[in-house]
Amino acid sequence: MRHLPAVAAVLAAAQTAPLLQVHGRAATTGAIRSALADARAELGAGSGAVPSMDALIESARAHLENQPARLRPLFNLTGTVLHTNLGRALLAEAAIEAATEAMRHPVALEYDLDEGGRGERDDHVRELLRALTGAEDATIVNNNAAAVLLCLNTFALGRGAIVSRGELIEIGGAFRMPDIMARAGAEMREVGTTNRTHLTDYRNAIDERTGLILKVHTSNYRIQGFTAEVSARDLAAMAGAAGIPLLNDLGSGSLVDLSAYGLAREATVRQAVDEGAHLVTFSGDKLLGGPQAGFIVGSRDAIAAINQNPLKRALRVDKIRLAAIEATLRLYRDPDRLAERLPTLRFLARSQDAIAAQGARLRDPVAACLGDDFQVDVGPCHSQVGSGALPLDTLPSAALQVRAKGSQRSLEDLSAALRALPRPVIGRITDGALQFDLRCLAETDEALFLANFAGRA
Ligand SMILES: *Cc1c(COP(=O)(O)O)cnc(C)c1O
Repeated sequence: MRHLPAVAAVLAAAQTAPLLQVHGRAATTGAIRSALADARAELGAGSGAVPSMDALIESARAHLENQPARLRPLFNLTGTVLHTNLGRALLAEAAIEAATEAMRHPVALEYDLDEGGRGERDDHVRELLRALTGAEDATIVNNNAAAVLLCLNTFALGRGAIVSRGELIEIGGAFRMPDIMARAGAEMREVGTTNRTHLTDYRNAIDERTGLILKVHTSNYRIQGFTAEVSARDLAAMAGAAGIPLLNDLGSGSLVDLSAYGLAREATVRQAVDEGAHLVTFSGDKLLGGPQAGFIVGSRDAIAAINQNPLKRALRVDKIRLAAIEATLRLYRDPDRLAERLPTLRFLARSQDAIAAQGARLRDPVAACLGDDFQVDVGPCHSQVGSGALPLDTLPSAALQVRAKGSQRSLEDLSAALRALPRPVIGRITDGALQFDLRCLAETDEALFLANFAGRA
């Protein structure tokens, strides 16, 4: 090890100059340290000889350049379209362009171009949201969890919030309604039972300390059998008579009737507003197909109260997302072309026949890449919407199904190798096969997918 050069000597070598020029002194020094550490480890293990100066510099270059970004694009072939762990909705081109422009240039984020004075960031989307939902007013925060937190904190801080025992949801990733209520400073007042809650349960729970009544869309489960639930309309009428605001948390919420695209019907935001809730909350990156955001629409007074809550400032969205949201919402003015323009809706609306035809196109080239150890077939499967939207409805789809001719272990190794590709391919192992649901593979990405796959060996 004494024969290894010092960091300064490698840094000073003529061959290091190009690295210094591209990566700078600090990063290059770090990479040389790493290269020397690798060499010491190898010598310590008794393998190999002292590397030449060229070999050390080549190793430093590899440290500098072979580091793919951790948050890089991948192929979501899990069959879950709105996969929370894979970033949910993909944005429309119009939204991507708008966000890019907002990153590159100053924008009138809180500036009124008509008056030449201060404006509000919600101004850019207020009219669109009013038109699309029928609500009097609207505001946007970081995500729907923040929207619910802010509504609770605004109306039930140190006061009671009434909620049915059948609606105390947990969404994946630590969003549990009782915990959110506690952190919002609201005293949870549970009513009814797991399977049945009646209007009188809510009415009997109202007292002078009640600040809010909460209705939660049970987005990731259904209670079936001997059940009773109070409709939002009845609840809104009762809450209104008692002078207490009703918050209806829709979760995904949709701005259009999804049955027009062959999907199951999910209550639209407009319906929830029509039913009389004072506040309705929903996500930006679920069925809406935009960036992560939480929308709050409702009565003018309720939104005004929310905007005066100091927490609003901590939960607001930035200009990049706001630009993307505005562009996404504008697409909803032309519902006929929505499925063309919103990738999420396009994927959800793809027919099983189209996906199976894609599978037939890809089977042979994929099988050729994988070699003789694996059997590749095209078979039917079921996709899920994901993110708790339409939890019981699956979409008939088609998948490439890879089976190992040898042991199960090799299937897991293959799965790991595909996750390590420049563009990772994520499928799932079910029934002894590694399954790639092709619903979310755009036809325009097929060539890229195959080239990437071929890089495996
Ligand atoms: C998804 C969901 C949330 C949380 O929304 P995020 O946008 O993920 O923060 C809250 N409530 C319901 C009913 C949901 O389905």
